Amino acid sequence: MHSLLDQHPRASLGFFPTPLMNLQRLSQHLGGPRILMKRDDQSGLALGGNKTRKLEYLVGAAIAAGCDTLITGGATQSNHCRQTAAAASGLECHLVLGGEAPPTAQGNLLLDRLLGARIHWAGKQRKGEQMPQIADRLRAAGRTPYIIPYGGSSATGALGYVHAAAELKTQLDNLDQRISHMLFASSSGGTQAGLIVGAHQAGLNCQVIGIRIDKEEEADAPYREQLLDLTNQTAALFGIDQRFDDETISLQERFTGQGYGIVGEAERNAIGLLARTEGILLDPVYTGRAMGGLLRLIDDRTFGPDDTLLFWHTGGAPTLFPYADALLESQP
Ligand SMILES: *Cc1c(COP(=O)(O)O)cnc(C)c1O
Repeated sequence: MHSLLDQHPRASLGFFPTPLMNLQRLSQHLGGPRILMKRDDQSGLALGGNKTRKLEYLVGAAIAAGCDTLITGGATQSNHCRQTAAAASGLECHLVLGGEAPPTAQGNLLLDRLLGARIHWAGKQRKGEQMPQIADRLRAAGRTPYIIPYGGSSATGALGYVHAAAELKTQLDNLDQRISHMLFASSSGGTQAGLIVGAHQAGLNCQVIGIRIDKEEEADAPYREQLLDLTNQTAALFGIDQRFDDETISLQERFTGQGYGIVGEAERNAIGLLARTEGILLDPVYTGRAMGGLLRLIDDRTFGPDDTLLFWHTGGAPTLFPYADALLESQP
């Protein structure tokens, strides 16, 4: 499998393999099932997260193409933008962020600034819609920009999670363990697409379940369709003939709450529970919501007593600070 991945240029940005943990105290507290956690929040690049793996292939492609500038976009508190700013050391980095410049830079925005990114404020648009125009301006000024799509979710970025699945398989084999289901936050799709292709290729033989973070938006194609497209693009780029159909997309779409970035009871509970039982920090936007969904699925007896679940911790803890008020709401 690695020989296929080795055909793609890859920048070394993180510390891999990331740790694999057994959440014994959480399982015990819940009365089962067994829950493992893959700590991609500990990927090592400027406070870590799942974008590090994607950026290894994206920055590899940018450098191979002779680019000297990275452009990407996201929400004000985007973890992807912060990791891109860190991955760009030696390259110029432009971030197109949703919203307006706040009076004080907090959380990821503070880190973007420290990491030397140039920031363009985009008002209502939080998915980098203005990146092509900014790229044109930079080209006119003599730069050679590489546009990294929202969330780093191109087929190139998703290769990072094809790689991650192989990494996990090796760790599980060394421990003589198997998993029945893997679950994770799914938002721009690169993580899920890469894991579907990677789990298939590595023979992980488990269900790959994305827990959706964003509400469906009318302006976009349905998320399921986007995911299936990206999965097949990733398989083609990776270099296998396998084509995936709609049945391979397993998506839990009922945990989107009040919408992207709005913290509710489910997120607060999940964050508090993991903090108290395991001393692990989830984040308010992605992993708190995904763990909230997982706890609900366990409550609904979706899994059997012999199942072993694996939760991918995809990062995001730097946004705990700007969300302080929403997180402590109704606590003593
Ligand atoms: C971006 C992100 C995700 C979602 O990953 P996608 O590949 O965009 O679906 C999950 N968790 C965190 C912390 C993220 O920053």
